[in-house]
Amino acid sequence: MTAAPLAGPSAVPTPLRVGRAGGTVDLPAAERAVADLLRALGKDTGCPHLADTPRRVAAAYAELLTPRGFDATTFPNESGYDELVLARDIPLTSLCEHHLLPFRGVAHVAYLPGERIVGLSKLARVTEMFARDLQVQERLTMEIADWLEVELAPRGVGVVIEAEHLCMSIRGVQAPGSRTRTSAVRGVLRDRRSARREFFDAVGP
Ligand code: ZN
Repeated sequence: MTAAPLAGPSAVPTPLRVGRAGGTVDLPAAERAVADLLRALGKDTGCPHLADTPRRVAAAYAELLTPRGFDATTFPNESGYDELVLARDIPLTSLCEHHLLPFRGVAHVAYLPGERIVGLSKLARVTEMFARDLQVQERLTMEIADWLEVELAPRGVGVVIEAEHLCMSIRGVQAPGSRTRTSAVRGVLRDRRSARREFFDAVGP
């Protein structure tokens, strides 16, 4: 469904510039720290093929940790749509806060509209906003659900994330292909058994 504004005084969209407060990135300091790390790991940062590595690594992490703000305009639910809105298989990349290694997968984000609705693309933008941080999958799942609950005041919210953590698949227990599934449900999707089942059935196994 699309969130088309309709006529009438209540149809005025509510613009909301979304962005997360966070520390500022000091790129030169990050470059020096990456060079220190490489030397501490026994690598010769004086050799030509590593000359530009600290700069590249610092820039890559800065990008992965800087959320892009977006316009999360919501609209009055003029048509009274009251069934589940589900965006499935939203691609997701985040950084594990324990190892600074990526975890990647998909998010399924759903809500049961109340008075307001939001454009479907915004469900992906919200997911990305919270993913661009040092995260654990459980908290990321809850942050997306909490944001929807606060900004949309829907009757229900459901978020499922399935992701593979490189810190599990390339080191440690080395379980490639193993995916972790987390979920957060709120409101009707949490409290009413039939709604909860409908959501998890729609998400799939
Ligand atoms: Zn980890």
